Amino acid sequence: MRAGRVLFLVLGTSILLTCSRKPESPRLVVFLVLDQCRPDVITRYEPLYRDGFRWLLDHSLTCTQVFHQHGYTATGPGHFTLSTGSYPGPAGILGNNWWSRTLRRTVYCVEDTQALLLGGEGPGRSYRNTSTPALGDWLQAQYPDAKVVSVAGKDRASIFLGGRRPDVCIWYNWDGHFVTSNYYADSIPDWLARFNSTSHIETYRDSMWTKSLPDSVYLKYARDDFFPGEVDSYRKDPYSPVFPIGFDHGDPPEKALKMIGGTPWLDRLTLQAAEAAIQGERLGADDSPDLLFLSLSGVDWMIHYFGPYSQEVMDSQIKLDKELGHFFRTLDTVVGLDRVLVVQTADHGGLPLPEYLSQVRGQAAGRINAPLRKAVTRALNEDLQRRTGIENLVTVEGPGLYIDHPRLEETTVPLEEIKDVIRSYYEKIPGIGRILFLEDLLAATPSDTLEWYLKHTMNEQGPDAWALEKRNWVWKYPFGTGHGSPYSYDRKVPLRWARSQFSRSEYAAEIHTIDLAPTLAAYLGVTPPDSVDGVVRDEIVSFLKGD
Ligand SMILES: [Zn+2]
Repeated sequence: MRAGRVLFLVLGTSILLTCSRKPESPRLVVFLVLDQCRPDVITRYEPLYRDGFRWLLDHSLTCTQVFHQHGYTATGPGHFTLSTGSYPGPAGILGNNWWSRTLRRTVYCVEDTQALLLGGEGPGRSYRNTSTPALGDWLQAQYPDAKVVSVAGKDRASIFLGGRRPDVCIWYNWDGHFVTSNYYADSIPDWLARFNSTSHIETYRDSMWTKSLPDSVYLKYARDDFFPGEVDSYRKDPYSPVFPIGFDHGDPPEKALKMIGGTPWLDRLTLQAAEAAIQGERLGADDSPDLLFLSLSGVDWMIHYFGPYSQEVMDSQIKLDKELGHFFRTLDTVVGLDRVLVVQTADHGGLPLPEYLSQVRGQAAGRINAPLRKAVTRALNEDLQRRTGIENLVTVEGPGLYIDHPRLEETTVPLEEIKDVIRSYYEKIPGIGRILFLEDLLAATPSDTLEWYLKHTMNEQGPDAWALEKRNWVWKYPFGTGHGSPYSYDRKVPLRWARSQFSRSEYAAEIHTIDLAPTLAAYLGVTPPDSVDGVVRDEIVSFLKGD
């Protein structure tokens, strides 16, 4: 072993590693995704961290310029890219949902009509909508004894991270239980059955979400608690999107089991489920490197509801600091933290509340009026019916518009006329910047920037037209905020590589999220398949190895 400091010079950018010794290969990699967690959602509150975030920040190489290369920045495509190193669209993942031209209905990205849920009620879920092997599959091809476990709040997060054949893949089922499907196993693991029967998630209905710190601290690091544009889900009359936040007891009890997603408690439960998985699956117990995918989904809903700079999101980060601390201590007890590598990133970024951007930053920002869009779509289809005789020629799914080609081809109306009509109607909707057409997106080159990113969530079955929102505009209406655009605020994500042997350092060269899985694979001695779109970032591998 070699002691001391190692300096790498790469394209004029340096990574400085300071550690007392060359770290051994990890027995467990924790691949931690914070849903919608733009980089400043972590760094903004840094002086207040005392526990898990403190360890993460103080023991990691932080890559500061990390961007998704796909343009429909939704949760499904984001998680897919992180674990496969591939663009989502060509692999069949066009969004969280898309319109299937063959089934003639909306398809959910991880739906599986052949699969049965285990541990709870609901429609089947699996990885069957794509065949792309992921990091866990590559790892197990090289190390047959390696275990791959995926745990998340959202089904699409856990499933896309887990890949084709994880040993365990579980997610929260919005009914008080974490579940899997028979795509993965014949029954739920015993440790999960115990976890479900002892966590009593229904009792959170009586809990009240209050602040962890004095009010003055929130005014220093966040903004006013009452802010226009925040969702008010608790005691809505009159509009008062402020602490404390609870569950309305007038609602049926099962509603609280769903609403828990918008509180810090879902991420706490997800971390507890992950701790149960570490112990139940004996992760990190042998020399084969194991892989724990972990995606925290609650932070996504809280940012959707309140915005990234809200007191609610600040408070959830303060609470998550403690929960992560507990999680890392469990890792230390069971595996030994010095034998663990934590990789932390996000499935996409997000936009602050448009009201915040306009009132505080003086920027042009807004919301696309959902009822107006619906009315415009209805008028569009009525116009097209007058021209073609076809009812509902265009189907809307998210920002995409799908033309019914088989029926159109029975008429003499040219496709170009239909596209012109779509453009003329949709470009009048306030907040819509441009209408982009599928053939142009598929032909995009890197110099086309926004089109280039959108291309990577498209394939030949994709929407004929894409309604691209203007910068700083969101589809959420009338409250909340979101993500999904190809703009940098939605594509930029955090990336940290943390080990207890590392000191804090930064790396400012641009990195693409398609490079993450191949780079991590190379570090673990695994060769990624030739089909991946990303590349191995050798300078990161060298840093991790301490070469
Ligand atoms: Zn997401």
